Amino acid sequence: MTRIVILTGAGISAESGLGTFRDAGGLWATHRLEDVATPEAFHRDPVLVHQFYNARRQQAAAAIPNAAHKALARLEATMGHDVLLVTQNVDDLHEKAGSRNVLHMHGRLAGALCHVCGHRWIAPPEMRPEDSCPSCRANATRPDVVWFGEYPHGMDRIEQALSEAAMFAAIGTSGQVYPAAGFVMQARQCGADTVELNLEPSETSSAFAQTRLGKASEIVSLWVDELLDSVPQG
Ligand code: NAD
Repeated sequence: MTRIVILTGAGISAESGLGTFRDAGGLWATHRLEDVATPEAFHRDPVLVHQFYNARRQQAAAAIPNAAHKALARLEATMGHDVLLVTQNVDDLHEKAGSRNVLHMHGRLAGALCHVCGHRWIAPPEMRPEDSCPSCRANATRPDVVWFGEYPHGMDRIEQALSEAAMFAAIGTSGQVYPAAGFVMQARQCGADTVELNLEPSETSSAFAQTRLGKASEIVSLWVDELLDSVPQG
């Protein structure tokens, strides 16, 4: 049974050098969401969309996990499958830090997807519109990320975990993208304690029982230490 569900967002990777979406100077300051992160944008201009994700894939590949990613890996190492880490992030910094039980609800930059046959494979550093699917040979390859207007991955598993969790934590997310922004209310309705860890109050701060403000690299390690101190050691 899942005892703790942790949702992470772009803020946890900010100190690893990966831009967030909505902060000043973030990705949306230089790229309009409608131009690069919707199925319609990809249909209209696949070259631009591939260029955007190729740049992000290369940046993410070079990034290294920070103390917050490492603290969550430490938590999983002790609590195992009692912890479900759900991330909105498309980078692999949780895995690089050592987390294994990670659900990428918005997909992964490291993945490629054929939108004709649904085949998935490891994305090359540079994807191009003329690339063909290794399975069906269609020229229909796209980054394996969930765009605005598409259905996130793993929702059944996430909702099951939220319904049985004793605690829900959200780290480095602005609470503006649904359905993830609604997880806190779902968890509360099922009786979970709730905590938000973020640089500044988010859109959904008032829904949490507790909000801790600060840099993820500092506050997440402290929170994990407190949790591990409260877990009976076998
Ligand atoms: P967001 O940009 O909307 O919000 C980021 C939040 O993190 C803000 O509330 C901000 O105050 C906080 N933050 C910034 N720096 C922080 C730090 N050092 N420590 C703690 N918190 C910090 O991001 P979001 O809520 O994840 O938005 C959702 C969308 O952003 C998702 O669809 C996700 O796929 C995408 N995204 C992912 C990445 C990535 O994979 N690294 C990067 C950018 C955007």
